[in-house]
Amino acid sequence: MAGNSFDLAVVGAGIVGLACALAAAKRGKRVVVLDRDAQANGASVRNFGFITVTGQARGEMWRRAQRTREIWAQVASEAGMTILHRGLVMTARRPESVVVLEAFTQTEMAHGCRLLDPADVARSHPELATPGLQAALWSPHELRVESREVIPRLAAWLAARHGVTFRWNTAVHAVETSKVLTSRGTIEAEAVAVCPGDDLTGLFADTIAGFGVTRCKLQMLRLADPGFRLTAGVMSDLGLVRYAGYAALPEAEELRLRLAREQAGQLANGVHLIVVQSADGSLVVGDSHHYAPTPDPFSQDAVDRLILDEFAAVFGRAPPPTLERWTGTYASAGERTVLLEAPLPGVRLAMVTTGAGASTGFALGEDVVAELFGELVA
Ligand SMILES: Cc1cc2nc3c(=O)[nH]c(=O)nc-3n(C[C@H](O)[C@H](O)[C@H](O)COP(=O)(O)OP(=O)(O)OC[C@H]3O[C@@H](n4cnc5c(N)ncnc54)[C@H](O)[C@@H]3O)c2cc1C
Repeated sequence: MAGNSFDLAVVGAGIVGLACALAAAKRGKRVVVLDRDAQANGASVRNFGFITVTGQARGEMWRRAQRTREIWAQVASEAGMTILHRGLVMTARRPESVVVLEAFTQTEMAHGCRLLDPADVARSHPELATPGLQAALWSPHELRVESREVIPRLAAWLAARHGVTFRWNTAVHAVETSKVLTSRGTIEAEAVAVCPGDDLTGLFADTIAGFGVTRCKLQMLRLADPGFRLTAGVMSDLGLVRYAGYAALPEAEELRLRLAREQAGQLANGVHLIVVQSADGSLVVGDSHHYAPTPDPFSQDAVDRLILDEFAAVFGRAPPPTLERWTGTYASAGERTVLLEAPLPGVRLAMVTTGAGASTGFALGEDVVAELFGELVA
């Protein structure tokens, strides 16, 4: 094999690019991954590392989330990654939220989930001293990993275990059928997977623009160890009008109206609550959603306070001190959750266009590779 000739070239070393690399390498393909940065630095290392199944949009998205969770579990065990906790507690402080949860439990998406009453929650999740708690949905499916650690580890494992070649500090200027033009020379590859995250104006900019893709900025916080240990991720009422698996149910409308009266600031800033815990006990807490082609890079304290107010309402205590703040961005295309396009023969453009790439990326990678190299025959 010539040093610059591969079966698959992948542009982008975020979770979507790594997922394509894994799916192709498992088929014995010779894979190169190209990234302009020295290490992944985009959404994939800035997220919660919360792999969520329950609450993902019904249909294809939910299917991809289930498959992705399965692959994360396999990869974590093979690559020695720690799963920090499992499952989700979706807390409900309003009767309208309970109605949504009850309706959700009647759907196929509630497979394995259970409604808890406040006494159940007090027993199983004593850290949740939520004033006015009405109920909670327990989902066993979710996994939590430390993205800033596992994404570099995934790349290293792909190289060591699957022989994937990585070319870092290498910007891709153009992609043609069987050819990738980079800042460090030309790569030949039978197939190319372009996984550029939220780079909307580089490769195949016209194709991306045709889908009305913009960018979403999120504010994130790391809080000091609160002195308790979460055994699952925690979310709240605001998530029920944000995550399409619940929000698309007709029962969500009443809740939306009530939240508009009671938490207008949070809704206006796209704030909902996710709380997950790290190995050192610190909590990763977020987030907010602001949309623009070029979002500003600034964290607003007022937005952080809206997030922390929701934390206090759910945990029934003041939030611990903030240790770290950061923002992240991802590609967003309204109701469309994924872009999987063929701009040229032998080339696929793959983007998750909602905030769920950690939860759906591995399955998307399999879909990309199946399109490029054919379905696997069982
Ligand atoms: C704050 C935040 C929280 C989130 N929380 C969650 C969560 O808990 N669960 C969940 O499922 N999802 C979450 N998401 C969404 C998830 O992180 C993204 O959907 C996912 O990481 C997107 O992965 P990606 O590989 O497409 O993009 P990225 O991780 O952005 O990677 C794209 C890569 O492509 C490279 N690249 C682009 N163009 C070129 C080029 N021309 N040449 C070379 N390299 C190029 C970039 O350098 C980059 O490394 C969150 C996102 C954010 C920002």
